[in-house]
Amino acid sequence: MADDAQADCLFCRIIAGEIPSDKVYEDTIVYAFRDINPGAPTHVLIVPKRHIRDVAAAEAADGALLLALLQAANTIAQQEGLADRGYRLVWNVGPDAGQSVFHLHLHLLGGRPMAWPPG
Ligand code: AMP
Repeated sequence: MADDAQADCLFCRIIAGEIPSDKVYEDTIVYAFRDINPGAPTHVLIVPKRHIRDVAAAEAADGALLLALLQAANTIAQQEGLADRGYRLVWNVGPDAGQSVFHLHLHLLGGRPMAWPPG
């Protein structure tokens, strides 16, 4: 497990390979895998390997890390054949948004038309 990883964090344990995941992308900064309870035909979680609680806890020094997540999202959208049709990127922060895992992650959803605003 990485030095900053938290033993009780689900996504730290997935990144460390202690819990299985359906990986779709990995680089030095980012790990991405399919959501276990997909909300769309394609639903990928794009996660920094370094533990950060959520996007609200990100700091100016995390700029390169956040950009890496967005670049990974672009790559995965191409990989999954979503780039032309479109897709949605979502950060959930806190209880009203339904955040359930407190390790920063970007949801990539696509493969069907999605209502806006969301329900
Ligand atoms: P959030 O509600 O934004 O915190 O998103 C957490 C997401 O993690 C949810 O969409 C869950 O379905 C997903 N999830 C929880 N456990 C796993 C797991 N073991 N593998 C893949 N996705 C998971």
